Amino acid sequence: MTGPTSSPSSTPAWSATVLGYPRTGADREAKKALEALWAGRADLAATEAALAGVRAATVRRLNSLGLPAHDASIPSAFSAYDQVLDAAVALGAVPDRFADVVGGDGRVDLVGYSTIARGRGADAPLEMTKWFDTNYHYLVPEISPSTSFRFADDRGVREFSEALADGFLTRPVVVGPVTFLLLSKPAAGSPDGFAPVQRLDDLLGAYEDLLRAYAAAGAEWVQLDEPALVSGSATAGVADPAGLVATAYERLSRSPGRPRLLVTTPYGDPGELLEPLARTAVDGLALDLVRGSAPRDTSLLAGKTVVGGVVDGRNVWRADLSAALRVLRPLQGAAAHVVAGTSTSLLHVPHDVDRESGLDERLRGWLAFADQKVAEVVVLGTALRDPDAVGEVLTASAAARADRVGAPGVVRAEVRSRLAALTPQAFRRSDYAVRRNAQDEALGLPLLPTTTIGSFPQTAGIRRARAAWARGESDDTRYEDYLRSEIDRVVALQEELGLDVLVHGEPERNDMVQYFAEHLEGFAVTAHGWVQSYGSRCVRPPILFGDVVRPEPITVPWSAYTRSRTAKPVKGMLTGPVTILAWSFVRDDQPLADTASQVALALRDEVADLEAAGIGIVQVDEPALRELLPLRAEDQPAYLRWSVDAFRLATAGAADATQVHTHLCYSEFGEVIDAIDGLDADVTSIEAARSRMEVLADIARVGFARGIGPGVWDIHSPRVPSTEEIAEQLRAAVAAVPARQVWVNPDCGLKTRGYEETTASLRHLVAAAHAVRAELAARPVTAPA
Ligand code: GLN
Ligand code: ZN
Repeated sequence: MTGPTSSPSSTPAWSATVLGYPRTGADREAKKALEALWAGRADLAATEAALAGVRAATVRRLNSLGLPAHDASIPSAFSAYDQVLDAAVALGAVPDRFADVVGGDGRVDLVGYSTIARGRGADAPLEMTKWFDTNYHYLVPEISPSTSFRFADDRGVREFSEALADGFLTRPVVVGPVTFLLLSKPAAGSPDGFAPVQRLDDLLGAYEDLLRAYAAAGAEWVQLDEPALVSGSATAGVADPAGLVATAYERLSRSPGRPRLLVTTPYGDPGELLEPLARTAVDGLALDLVRGSAPRDTSLLAGKTVVGGVVDGRNVWRADLSAALRVLRPLQGAAAHVVAGTSTSLLHVPHDVDRESGLDERLRGWLAFADQKVAEVVVLGTALRDPDAVGEVLTASAAARADRVGAPGVVRAEVRSRLAALTPQAFRRSDYAVRRNAQDEALGLPLLPTTTIGSFPQTAGIRRARAAWARGESDDTRYEDYLRSEIDRVVALQEELGLDVLVHGEPERNDMVQYFAEHLEGFAVTAHGWVQSYGSRCVRPPILFGDVVRPEPITVPWSAYTRSRTAKPVKGMLTGPVTILAWSFVRDDQPLADTASQVALALRDEVADLEAAGIGIVQVDEPALRELLPLRAEDQPAYLRWSVDAFRLATAGAADATQVHTHLCYSEFGEVIDAIDGLDADVTSIEAARSRMEVLADIARVGFARGIGPGVWDIHSPRVPSTEEIAEQLRAAVAAVPARQVWVNPDCGLKTRGYEETTASLRHLVAAAHAVRAELAARPVTAPA
């Protein structure tokens, strides 16, 4: 069988497409199938069959929503775990420690594939990290000078053939070579100065074989995703990114026997990197016209198929179809063929808003989940060819959007006037020195105070109690009694362990964002709105649709109860405004900064109520502060300004004697260190154990002057660190930072841990703090220079 030649001649007929679709299945069938395999409840064949069922249902669904079966507008964009791992496996880039999972035919079965993703014994899994500025996480390939790239695993081709046999000519989707290498890291043991991009030529040979295999199987188009082209940090270390792009695509677009190539640049604007790509003979370009814009020099689009990504793949609001058409129409003069599309894969949104019968009907009318977005691109594709055909649909869609403007709860005068009346004073606390004295007096903490990040293990008992309460099987009183007994247990344990600052353990929280969303007006929560976070993990982000109001205190009763059970200082934990925004679908009718300020005001009231209830320490978690950092350097200062302001607005109402903590879940301080300093928190806890306290150098370098708790226990693994190991980390900390600034805490919350390792590890943590305190006390006092 032969595919199109290197200069395909027939005119592509497609008019609409999406760059990808959720992979978990409408009822999370793929997630459940994988977890059954891992738990030994299902065998390989049953798991493969379940995943094939999700793929078949997806293709049929996309077809029934209006994408034709035979023009390649339906993507084959499935992944059992992660698309970057898929590319690594397809291209022979499996790390040596997992070489045994690759079969003689180059294939990796689902068990082996899961092993690379999840590790086994001493073989660490591939590192996981965030996919651009989304809440999706991918696995980082490890590339060495000797990685032998080849077209190894043909799973993607088999999936394409499976759809074809079912009657659908789909468009396979693969991570592109430039992004693949830029997202990879050098394998351990690679020589100094080695970077994966140096292997481009070898990798391209494997891509050529892969593309030919798709063409031979009958694929007319293959989509290569190149989001790295829009990201300043992805291309940062590369001397000549334009040259890299040109080299890759000149070669692939001239490769004999290839299918047509659609290259996508989602999540932003490729800027100056569009030109080297467009100058090659690739057949199609998919541009993100939500975050980015069409090139000023439209001659770059000449002769190409251009997928205009006008429907937002990352948010849940109905598109403004008329505005989208105004963006698409001018492209028709410049490109050979214009296709209406989504800005990104629909991986980031839930399946179908029509299933959300529990949502307010009016709100539901404003929303478009994945299926509704497919319908939107189909309408736009039709409108491009026949403007009269969809007039009524456009009118109805505009009316649904307009309905939002004046709807109750969207704009609330009391919120607007409170924000408008804010003065700079609302963002400022007293000088740190003044606060420090007041807090020392109020709290009376020892040197190297010990604490935790807030959550204690979410036991099966807690989950059962919450589920029974959610189903209405147990009433509020019974559920709350249960939570109070849980708090009693956690308090008693902390007292027995000898921790200095106690927490209530957060047993009431299903999720650190959803819990607050459920207790604030302006948010709605879905029943089926699952979105993949990584692998089989899914989250259900709330929808922030209106002005934010806190109808009553949220966490205060739990913290106040805790305080009544102990004489030790109690810390209350809140989720910060940036993190609440980052892990929600946020209204698109006003700047993010304004929405953040509204959330901040609600939290400010919560802080005041905690204070009034006698809680002397309040922690505002901002683990997502870095996640929302814009991809392009020029957009970063404005973001850092409003995100820091939102945190300060939430916390600056606190009295001098109230100690404000913040917690951040990462150790790569570099990019955001000034912002973290700007938060002006009295104490900042960060992740440090996994990087063996490397972060201390950064902290010392910038002269961070307030409290700092570099995590001394990596809570991501059930491993119990020894007292001596923790003491060693503490010694490193007090060597880098004055001891009176140092706090002793784990890397993050303990909700995913079990009690056994939690108790043992905390015992060691407290013992290590005691040991190092004693060493410091015995140290001869040297006069300051
Ligand atoms: N306070 C939260 C907890 O302990 C913080 C979680 C997080 O940083 N992701 O679970
Ligand atoms: Zn954390």
